[in-house]
Amino acid sequence: MKAAVIEEKNNIHLKEVPKPQLKEGEALIKVKYCGICGSDIHVLKGEHPTATFPVIPGHEFVGELVEIKGTGNEEFEIGDYVVAQPFFSCGNCEPCAKGRDNVCQHLCFMGAHTDGGFAEYVKVAVRKMYKIPKDMDLKLAALTEPVAVAVHDVRRSGLRAGETALIIGGGPIGMLIAMVARYAGARRTVISEISDFRRNVAKKFGFDTVNPLDADFDEQISAMTDGKGFDVCFEVSGSKPGVKTAVEKAKITGTVMIIGMTSEPYPVDLSAVFAKELNIQGVRIHSQYNFIGAVELLKNGALNEEFQAMISKVFRIDEVEDAFAFAQVPGDYFKILVEM
Ligand SMILES: [Zn+2]
Ligand SMILES: [Zn+2]
Repeated sequence: MKAAVIEEKNNIHLKEVPKPQLKEGEALIKVKYCGICGSDIHVLKGEHPTATFPVIPGHEFVGELVEIKGTGNEEFEIGDYVVAQPFFSCGNCEPCAKGRDNVCQHLCFMGAHTDGGFAEYVKVAVRKMYKIPKDMDLKLAALTEPVAVAVHDVRRSGLRAGETALIIGGGPIGMLIAMVARYAGARRTVISEISDFRRNVAKKFGFDTVNPLDADFDEQISAMTDGKGFDVCFEVSGSKPGVKTAVEKAKITGTVMIIGMTSEPYPVDLSAVFAKELNIQGVRIHSQYNFIGAVELLKNGALNEEFQAMISKVFRIDEVEDAFAFAQVPGDYFKILVEM
């Protein structure tokens, strides 16, 4: 089969590789679309702390079920369109036993620790696979995984109806969090983002926006929150100023969600954490329950028009190297998909 393989740091090529071999409880998917995620770029640049080479990147895929191994899978038929939570977890360790499979002690994440979806075929765990309707737009279905991240982050934040949210970083994940937070009942959802393009898209969807580089950034935030700050600050930028802002702009008893990937220790003003009795909550990938939440949200369609706006460009499989080159340069786009 054809696959995009990262042989080593900064080296990705389309090449012929053997099709994945299935074990009991696994399924083979013929990939239709796979999205490029920031973490795929981290893997490519050798910045992912635990990725191993060679590896086929990609964990945001949708496709057609072509083979299934094992018994007790009557809900699936060959030819179904499916998505899957893109990791293997043991089901047995303490985090798994708590339903926190996303932080399994033996977590094997597709596209980093094992082969992912930028290939003609990808194998997944049957117990993490979900059917999607035959008439659903498959490009939209390719967003299931990032939407699951947003569902997970909003649910873990404990955000309640009528509360306020600040999202620091208006890329695809930040925007999806804003959409899900508003749907969950946030009365005011503000996106802090330096890109004019991204702020304009956010405004088009009715979100308030701020530019953290504005000289009166603090005054703008203060005016938006009656000087109180936000119930929940979602830090998606993975930047030092972003973390500082999140702690600063969380209201007394507020919550700071740490979502952006950071590769070095960041200084945090712990006296503010103490004085305001803040909750600081890390989040990683998504639990299976929250992945199901994303599947159901996409099937329900309530936010699909907003989600659709996150798909900026679609490359073909033979252009996958160009797609990765494109996605490494910041620009006026959100999500890049590759049609396999
Ligand atoms: Zn991702
Ligand atoms: Zn486990």
